[in-house]
Amino acid sequence: MFTAFLIKYAEIGIKGRNRHLFEDALIQQIKYALKKCEGKFLIHKTQGRIHVDAQTEFDFDEVVEHLQRVFGISGICPVVYVEDEGFEKLCDTVIQYIADVYPDRNKTFKVNARRARKNYPKESMAINMDMGEAILNAYPEMSVDVHNPDIMLNIEVREKIYIYSEIIPGPGGMPVGTGGKAMLLLSGGIDSPVAGYMIAKRGVKIDAVYFHAPPYTSDRAKQKVVDLARIVSRYTGPIYLHVINFTDIQLYIHEKCPHEELTIIMRRYMMRIAEHIAKETECQGLITGESIGQVASQTMSSLIATNEVCELPVYRPLIGFDKQEIVEVSEKIGTFETSIQPFEDCCTIFVAKHPVTKPNVNVIRKHERYLDEKIDELVKTALETDELIIVSE
Ligand code: ATP
Ligand code: MG
Repeated sequence: MFTAFLIKYAEIGIKGRNRHLFEDALIQQIKYALKKCEGKFLIHKTQGRIHVDAQTEFDFDEVVEHLQRVFGISGICPVVYVEDEGFEKLCDTVIQYIADVYPDRNKTFKVNARRARKNYPKESMAINMDMGEAILNAYPEMSVDVHNPDIMLNIEVREKIYIYSEIIPGPGGMPVGTGGKAMLLLSGGIDSPVAGYMIAKRGVKIDAVYFHAPPYTSDRAKQKVVDLARIVSRYTGPIYLHVINFTDIQLYIHEKCPHEELTIIMRRYMMRIAEHIAKETECQGLITGESIGQVASQTMSSLIATNEVCELPVYRPLIGFDKQEIVEVSEKIGTFETSIQPFEDCCTIFVAKHPVTKPNVNVIRKHERYLDEKIDELVKTALETDELIIVSE
């Protein structure tokens, strides 16, 4: 029965000149989300609203599910459009609408009419009164409550007449693309896909980098990261995933540096390389899935050591989350099942038995000098052999 959706978005902070940027980005993301749905849709804006009009048959649940992944949408209102065939016919349609949408009619309601087309013969107040009466006649079990109705029946008179009453919650946030771009360090774990999702929700476009260590990490481990990026791209739009071959750098660190510092030094090189790619691709920050104290390389002291090699801000949206809280988000966004597939990631191969938990930055810097002879060349080669995969659904 529904032929369209009215898209609601939070208007705070998007007044004035930013407004059309916000709306255009939102429209673009809606188009991207609906490309994967069956049916054809016209997406357009009128007077500060965004409309999604179905031009063919479509699967209601599928469309709602996809719209619920578009950041910036606060509510999705399924709409029935009808031709203007006189007020009596409209009342009949609304009565039928109530029958279809509300099998249980022991409810209060309010008619909220808006006459956007001024040549309609009834004023808004009269529509409210007369339609309210028609509904009460049809359904004596219903009653009017103008302050706090169970059903707010919106009637908008335009070229056609819109009828809607339901608001399905959207994901909130800001449309991707309105907040710049950042580089996500994406591993095959649970945390980093969630971290990327959270920053994207604030309107930030996401690129990603994965450090691959063949043959220590398999092609299946890499495929898992591609799969995770694909799930995250449902929310963010296409992700440019850089796969960096990290094996020689890791082996060299393993050969030259104290083993309890391997993880920290390796993480410092990941950050350096990620930042290099970030700067070249106009990213304004890095994103990691770190959370204080989760593992030895994420203590406050370790974070000092990994943070200091970067100039760009490092965003760590999970920093105060417990693992269980991260798992809940990952289940909600659909990455959990993929994240827990048991393929080794490059950190587990090279982990020391007793990694330092309180690394001293000066000591780390000193030990990194053991790498002077070859490391610049290895980093250069890693960057030159960057494999770019454009991931989208
Ligand atoms: P995750 O679940 O995201 O893998 P983790 O708990 O395994 O995190 P670490 O292995 O310490 O934690 O990694 C911390 C962060 O460093 C990750 O969240 C991710 O952002 C980044 N990272 C770790 N390994 C890689 C990798 N191989 N490629 C890209 N980024 C990585
Ligand atoms: Mg990991």
